[in-house]
Amino acid sequence: MKVHEYQAKELFVARGLAVPEGEVATTPEEAEAIAKRIGGMVVVKAQVHVGGRGKAGGVKLAKDAGEAKAKAAAILGMDIKGLTVEKVLVTRAVDIESEFYLGLIMDRNTHQPMFIASAAGGVDIEEVAVTAPEKIHTLAIDARYGARSFQARKLAYELTDDPAVVKGMTKALMTLYDVFMASDATLIEINPFVKTPDGETWSVDAKLNIDDNALYRQPAISAMRDLSSEEQSEIEAREAGLSFVKLDGNVGCLVNGAGLAMATMDLVQYYGGMPANFLDIGGSSNPEKVVTAMRIILRDPKVKAILFNIFGGITRCDDVAAGLLKATEQLEVPVPIVVRLTGTNEDKAREMLVGSSLIPAVTMDEAVQKALELAQGGAQ
Ligand code: GDP
Ligand code: MN
Repeated sequence: MKVHEYQAKELFVARGLAVPEGEVATTPEEAEAIAKRIGGMVVVKAQVHVGGRGKAGGVKLAKDAGEAKAKAAAILGMDIKGLTVEKVLVTRAVDIESEFYLGLIMDRNTHQPMFIASAAGGVDIEEVAVTAPEKIHTLAIDARYGARSFQARKLAYELTDDPAVVKGMTKALMTLYDVFMASDATLIEINPFVKTPDGETWSVDAKLNIDDNALYRQPAISAMRDLSSEEQSEIEAREAGLSFVKLDGNVGCLVNGAGLAMATMDLVQYYGGMPANFLDIGGSSNPEKVVTAMRIILRDPKVKAILFNIFGGITRCDDVAAGLLKATEQLEVPVPIVVRLTGTNEDKAREMLVGSSLIPAVTMDEAVQKALELAQGGAQ
């Protein structure tokens, strides 16, 4: 789950890290009033869950309240990478002398929270990682002891020699660690963390992603969820207890088990196709789940074929077949469905599917290749 900049900044402030004062507006008039209260130069910032808002025109400086109103009017309602801006953060503008990147992720290699920091801030860190990897400094933290300020200070000194900046940066790094751990985050970022000409330091931007699997114990964070900036299909899937991620391809995938779903997607790509989604219908073979899953997949007009890949263990293939038949009865399915059912009661399942419009396949390779052929045929 993604948390907006203004919400992440609230969490920073709650843990003692000051940010430039600001408030959220949903109308140009509100933005004007906030800017008037702050006084002087402000920044009007689109609150949408995408990176690179600045480049897309979603972050604008305004010299006074009147200009803030005009900039807010321009940004509110704007489409940024497919999302409509419904809120802007109006915040005091900071004079920027230099920009740093400060972040913390859950590192898969060390299995530890890992700081990532760079003096090349304000730009895409992924780009820095490619063009100038030597400018990126990392530090893995042993979660049993937590981050210690001496570690944060040492990391800060790798980015700058300025003791005042090191002081502010150490505080920011420690806060990142606190918020990260307290909110079950997978990623937290301040980009840019800036130094002003007066030697002050400020967190100008904030990004925070939360591990969905921990939301059950994060009621305060869960309440921050902004459904308006999420895929409708992902919302519906979550409500139905399905693990679903929308992707850009044209082969809808319905699989039981996350590992098999990943392997299926790999195979689709191996044979030159693109999956339309990741979907794990889980261990249960409840026909209702199959129906919901089909409905979600079919909502995407790009889908030209559906690939059903079921490995029957505890899940019985005949149950899944029953669900599939029910789903095709209840829903109008305008695309071909390739079915690979293997494992417990597979013979019975295949018998059940005889005479239906479903296209059987025995192996995964065969199923994927058939689905790709059909998807291509449908696209013409
Ligand atoms: P992002 O593009 O979504 O990462 O949004 P940011 O909040 O990082 O803003 C983009 C860029 O706008 C920053 O890298 C800064 O260069 C600029 N910017 C944002 N806030 C301020 C500010 O308070 N003062 C100044 N001078 N520039 C700002
Ligand atoms: Mn940024």
